[in-house]
Amino acid sequence: MSVVSYEQLRGELAPCVLHEPSDGYAPVPVTERLAQAIWFDQRLKRDGLQTTDGRRVRVVSPGWWNLEAGPDFRRAVIAFDDAKPQLGDVEVHLHSADWHQHGHTRDRHYDNVILHAALWRRGEQPATTATGRALPQLVMADQLDAPLDQLYDSIDPENYPYDLDSHVGACESPLKSASPETIAALLEDAGLARLRTKARRLTRWIQRTGIEQALYMAVMEALGFKHNKEPMRRLAERLPVARLRELPATQAQALLLGVAGFLPERTVAGRDEATRRYVKRLWDVWWKSRDEFAGRSLSRAEWRLAGLRPANLPWRRLAAVAQLLAAHWELWPKIADTLASQPETKRAARLAALLTDLEDSYWSRRFSFASKPQPEPELLIGAARARDIVVNVVLPVAIAQGKLLEQPALVEAAEKLFGDYPPLESNALVRFTAHRLFGQRVPPRLLRTAAQQQGLLQVFHDFCLNDRTACRRCRFPDLALQFAAKQTAC
Ligand code: SF4
Repeated sequence: MSVVSYEQLRGELAPCVLHEPSDGYAPVPVTERLAQAIWFDQRLKRDGLQTTDGRRVRVVSPGWWNLEAGPDFRRAVIAFDDAKPQLGDVEVHLHSADWHQHGHTRDRHYDNVILHAALWRRGEQPATTATGRALPQLVMADQLDAPLDQLYDSIDPENYPYDLDSHVGACESPLKSASPETIAALLEDAGLARLRTKARRLTRWIQRTGIEQALYMAVMEALGFKHNKEPMRRLAERLPVARLRELPATQAQALLLGVAGFLPERTVAGRDEATRRYVKRLWDVWWKSRDEFAGRSLSRAEWRLAGLRPANLPWRRLAAVAQLLAAHWELWPKIADTLASQPETKRAARLAALLTDLEDSYWSRRFSFASKPQPEPELLIGAARARDIVVNVVLPVAIAQGKLLEQPALVEAAEKLFGDYPPLESNALVRFTAHRLFGQRVPPRLLRTAAQQQGLLQVFHDFCLNDRTACRRCRFPDLALQFAAKQTAC
């Protein structure tokens, strides 16, 4: 069906069911988002909640609203009958048959689902995961705590998941009673702890492999983003930086793309002339070297390619690494020099520029071997990613190396820059944790530095991620109170 209006397009993206209300007024348009909000707020009869096969259900926590790919709610805690509560994901649909229709039966991202909650029952097919596990199903329409039309009137799906004062963590109240300065100090402390933890991991890498290899591995890992960190690091181990030493960028690209398993066939008929020429140059290098890497190359199956922004695809990142090494064969002396001799106000920009000032005659305008050249060049490593690498790789490496070389000034310069560094691009995890800790309104002057953001993420990893009690046994609220008391006493 061709789309002719916005309304139609919206209907295709977010199916909507018109429900006849109990009050006789206009029909109620029910979307999946409303069903998710009902689950999130647990607008269900809590006593006597049952699955379709008669199991009693006790929801300790509905889970975290997931804004990324995969199930709708992560880390829900649910008890069935008298069993101990289990931790897992929940998928919510309008109809029970949607589990099959949306293809979740074959999707490994749904392997950790422990409950399928549908607003209405449709069809009798049981829901199963890709591993063949049968899932308990809950039909919510029969077990709502109010008629659906009343819930429709009281819930505004646009407020979900963050524009709400509900669903905040138990730490929100103690944090609210503390001054913004105290919370800032607490988050900066947590951020510094995170930075030092990263530095400890990198210390071992430096001791094992040397500073340049450690830096190269860490940069590769960071360029793998969330989904390709592992294969990027494996690639850096199998093709060490010493092997790429002083190679022109195209030769380094041939080795990186070859070992990664991304080199296309030599015969690329049908592609444009520039691609044919470029691929030939890569193969001229690779065919002489491939025996050296026999049994050590990665396969395409080891990479996750679906759902990535074209500019972030791993072959483009590898092209960037080749250019980075060609431009700065020894990266560490440049970092150390920037931290030691550049004016403090210029250090952040200079370090990021080492990563952003890269160009490639082919990849600056391409996203893949199959894509057409873009009219405008796009940075191989964008400014936001470069700043992220400075905070998460360069500064921890500098601290690790400064300690190993017994150069306290270097450690101090890296920690000082970390404390002053402007915030990195926000992401779903930062927004999620900020909402849990502060509700809708982050106190003024908070999260204005990368250190505070990193502290927030550390709280998430140390406390939220380990909590299975819907905050009840979390020790962070206590810690926040003690920290605030100590600050006041000082
Ligand atoms: S788990 Fe702890 S840190 Fe996380 S929101 Fe709950 S009380 Fe706060």
